[in-house]
This record gives sequence, structure tokens and C-alpha cells, in this order.
Amino acid sequence: MEIIPGVHKIEGVSGANCYLVTSGTEMVLIDTGMRGSSKKVASYLKTLGKNPSDIKYIFITHADPDHISGAMEIKKLTGAKLVIHNGEMPALAGDSSSRLRNKSRIVKILSRMLSGLIRFPSASPDIVLKADTEIAGFKIINTPGHSDGSISIYQPGTVIFVGDALTADANGNPKRPVKMLAADMAQAKASVELIAGLKYNTLLVGHGAPVKGDAVAKVKKLLADWK
Ligand SMILES: [Zn+2]
Repeated sequence: MEIIPGVHKIEGVSGANCYLVTSGTEMVLIDTGMRGSSKKVASYLKTLGKNPSDIKYIFITHADPDHISGAMEIKKLTGAKLVIHNGEMPALAGDSSSRLRNKSRIVKILSRMLSGLIRFPSASPDIVLKADTEIAGFKIINTPGHSDGSISIYQPGTVIFVGDALTADANGNPKRPVKMLAADMAQAKASVELIAGLKYNTLLVGHGAPVKGDAVAKVKKLLADWK
């Protein structure tokens, strides 16, 4: 589905939303959903008359399984470079302690019990970001809080992809990130403030519908109502 010209959501990918941008200097993918996503990406590209090898970069907003599980198979399909922030490397190595540092004892115990069942999927990034940068015409900005290495991918004046720094409801109203799932809620709010200070019409989240129209005003309203 084309959300705005040159920005698509790949239909049928399970887990987090998977976006394709064809309007930049190079084609990029943002997040990869769960395993099996590469088939969906391949068939979507076919409908656009594009080849998998046209995708040059895969940006991972953060290393949660619902965002990164499809990464290696899509990297294999496309030959694109996998980009992730350094703050996600502990999670990729199976260490969830930074994500749990503000959690209650019971949550820590539960997650240790579950860690044998739910593993961060292994993925080998090609580019590990240590600071904000620019790749293929996109500004890559660290927006931590949900996790330390959460990034937003930003085309000034047009669109921002924020991963789980924000969510949205089915009507495209932005919602604050889920506290239970945030590594650091104060940091998460600071990141929303940073996002509110940028310029774009469309804001795209990992979970929820596109925030369209004057998305900045909607994020500012969310902040004003934040208690
Ligand atoms: Zn998610």
C-alpha cells in the first residue's frame, strides 16, 4: 500500500510494520517484521516492477524480534546493507539487561524465565551506528527510551519513521510508547519531544496506522496531554 508518494507499507508482513521507500536517492526498507517477510517483500516489489537488488539499505529501528526477525532473509534476498544502532548490539548478543534496568523484580524474574523461549534473533549488521548520521538522504537519529539503540529515520519536510518511540491507533492518532515495554520512560518522553521538534507531514510507527496530515501538531498535542 502506498501511504504517500514513494512510501509504502509492505502488506502481509507479520510483527511490526515494514516500510519501503522508493522516493529517496536509493531504495530502502525500514524494519523487517517476523520470519517469512522476504516472500512478502519480493512479491510487493514485483507489483511495483522493482527488483530486490534495488533495495540498498535495511534500517532496523531496534532489535526487538517483531522488527528484526525477517532481517537476515531480506538481506539475503536483496543484498542490502543492514543498518542498526550500536545500542542494540547487547540485545543482538542475547543480553536484555539494559532493556530491563527499570523493570520490577517480578518482571526481571519472568523475563529470565522466558528468555529461554524468546530469544533475540541473531542478525549480523553491516553498519553499526555510534552517532546520528545521514545515509541515502535520510537523517538517522537516536531516539532512545523504548530501547537504548532505537532510531528514527527522517526525511526533513516529508516523513519520519519512529519505530516504537511512538505508537498509533487505527485512526492514525499518535499514542505514547507503551510503558511496560520501555527501557526508560523519561528518556522515551525526551525522544518524543525531540521528534515533536522536527518537520514532517507524515509519521510512521512500528505498530499502528499512519499519522498523516499535520503529524507534528498531533505529536505536540500528545505531549501537551502527557501526564
Ligand atoms: Zn515493536
